[in-house]
Formats: sequence, C-alpha cells, structure tokens
Amino acid sequence: MGKNNYFQNAIINIAEFYRQNYNENNAEEILFNTLNKIIPFSKGIIYLQSNDKTEIKYQYGNIIGKEIIQEELSINGCKFGYIELSRESSFCNDEKLTLKTCAYIIANIIKDIELSKIVKSQVTVLQKSMEDAKKQNKKIIAAEKVKNNFLSNVSHELRTPLNSILGFSELLQAQFIGKLNKKQMEYISDIRIASLHLLGMINEILDMSKIEANAMKINLTEFKLIQNTEEVINILKPLYQKKNITLFIDIPQNITIKSDYQKIQQILFNIINNAIKFTPENGEIKIIAKNILNNLTIKIIDNGIGIEKKYLKRIFKKFMQVNIGQVKENSTGLGLTITKELVKLLNGEIDVESELNKGSTFIIKLKNIVIL
Ligand code: ADP
Repeated sequence: MGKNNYFQNAIINIAEFYRQNYNENNAEEILFNTLNKIIPFSKGIIYLQSNDKTEIKYQYGNIIGKEIIQEELSINGCKFGYIELSRESSFCNDEKLTLKTCAYIIANIIKDIELSKIVKSQVTVLQKSMEDAKKQNKKIIAAEKVKNNFLSNVSHELRTPLNSILGFSELLQAQFIGKLNKKQMEYISDIRIASLHLLGMINEILDMSKIEANAMKINLTEFKLIQNTEEVINILKPLYQKKNITLFIDIPQNITIKSDYQKIQQILFNIINNAIKFTPENGEIKIIAKNILNNLTIKIIDNGIGIEKKYLKRIFKKFMQVNIGQVKENSTGLGLTITKELVKLLNGEIDVESELNKGSTFIIKLKNIVIL
C-alpha cells in the first residue's frame, strides 16, 4: 500500500471512532474493532494507571505477537494509561504515527465514558435523595395532620368543661343562687379569671392548628361594630376591673359591617386582652373606630409598658414574647400571630406603633366592609 493510500484509508476508519455511541459495556469491542481496521494487530490491551497502580481496562484478541507498539493515553499532558498492540509482523512508521492519533482519540473517549459514569452515579444519588426527601416530606405532612387533629380534639375536650366552669362561676358571681360574702366573691372572681386565661390559651392553640391546616372558614354576616366590641369588653371586664384600668370606647353607633362576627371578636379580644395584660394598674385603654371612605380603622391604644423598637416587627411571629420577665401572665405567644392571620383572612392589615414605657397602639385596617 502506498503512503498516501495508507493515510487515506486510516482517516476514513479514524472517522469511525466518532460515529459510535459509547458506554461502559460496548466501548471495548467498538474501540478495538475500529482500531484493528486502521492498524491490524493480534492482541490489544488498554491499561489505566492511578495511584501507582496499573490495571487492564480493556483487551482484545488472544495471540500475543513478538512485535509490540505502545502509546500513552493522556489528556492535556496528563497521562492516565497506555495502549499496547502486538502482532507477529513488525509495525511500520506510518502505523506508529497513526497509533498516536488513535491514542489521542481513544483517551478522550475513555475519559468521556468515565465522566458519564460519574455523572450517572451522581444523578442516581441525587434521585435517591430526592425520593428520600419526598418520603420525608410526606411523613412531615402526615405528622402535622395528626398533630393538628390531636390538638383540635384535645382543645375541644378541654374547652367544654372549662366553659361550664366559667358559666357556673358567672352564675354564682351574679348571686342568682344566693348571696355571697366578700371572701366568696373574691374567690369566684379568681376562678373566673384563671379559667378565662386557660380558655384563651386553649383557643389560641386550637386556632393556630386550624390556621396551619388551612381549615379556617369565613362566615359573613352583617352586624354593628359597637355591639361586637361591647361583647368582647364584657368578657374581659373581670380582667381590667381587677387592675383598675379605665376603658374609653369611641365607636360610632351607626357603623354596621359585613364580616365574620366571631373572627372580628377574636381579633378585638386578643388585642384588648394584650392591652390589659401589658398595662399596669390604674392605666388607660382607648378603643377608637373610624370609617373614612369605606376604610374602617380600629385603634386600640394603651399607656402600658410599650415595646422596644427592635421587637416591633417580631411580635407577630409565632411564640414571640418580649416582656415576659416583666409581666406575670399566662400566655402562649401565639395571640398576635393568630390575630395577624385572622386580619389577613378578612383582607385587612394590622400594624403597631409603640414606645417603651409610654404605651402601644395597635391599628387594624379593614377595607370595604362597612355597610353605607
Ligand atoms: P402573648 O400570648 O405573650 O400575649 P402575643 O402574640 O399576643 O403573645 O404577643 C406577643 C408579645 O408582644 C407579647 O408577649 C408582648 O411582649 C408583646 N405585646 C403584645 N401586645 C402588647 C402591648 N399592648 N403592650 C406591650 N407589649 C405587647
């Protein structure tokens, strides 16, 4: 074969290297078959080297000839193995030169296969961890459901007897059953206050679990804001009277709104209850409502202990309590979180302004709910 002829033939066959789809299983056969068409040989071996170890990666043919040629496998000057061909007849220079080119191509193909193996195994690991995460997620959601169900059941079981404690103590306090002496009146008032605190806390836990389970439903009715507020104030009367706190209410009689009666009550209850909690004896609380251009604003202003500026944004977060050292009250730190969620549910906003040792103002804004 003439020189030119040999290279022409070799180039056509070298192009074959690029037409194949390689993987770990077919690489050995394709590489050696293609190479055999370019440089005939009776045995071919590809060795890979790593950390001073040399091992046979691929091999082809059984008969080792007495003539041997070798070429290193390297990428960017970094040697990682070599290829060795043998046969009975000697190899000419053209063949040796061609093996250089082939070794370069084979080196790249082998590295490609190695790389795709690594990527594949990484993808497998990733897929597995994604599946694990999904399973974990499902478990978390299921556990959350169990927790919420448990809380709502337990809270219900606790609320029923508590309501009867409250009801009976109210009856006794009203002296319908008979006259009570001073000490008895005092004790009954303490029972009512303690029960109210407990009821408040149970309700908060129940509400939080309902909110987290997205199970809060809105029930719209038309009602007078003043009536709703007075009911709340009535419930809280024992608490603010005990601290001799004066309550001012400035709510126009004619404000009728269409909203969720119970949720508005709960919002007002939480904010006014906090105002009582965090205002010292003989303090003052004002409840002011205004309707301007169908924007209803309700302000609850106290002259209590106030809140440091740095805590203002955080008090609406779950379990956040900032004055707990100063005020000895039973509380969960959930009240404002629930209140904010309830206001949001009614398409409103709640904000707070406060100054330490001067007092706090909670502002609730509700749009388009006033019946004109
Ligand atoms: P808690 O159950 O502790 O009352 P809240 O979520 O209702 O929980 O309130 C969170 C914290 O915000 C309270 O612990 C208190 O530190 C602060 N806070 C709320 N309302 C007032 C207020 N009117 N005056 C001063 N601090 C308040």
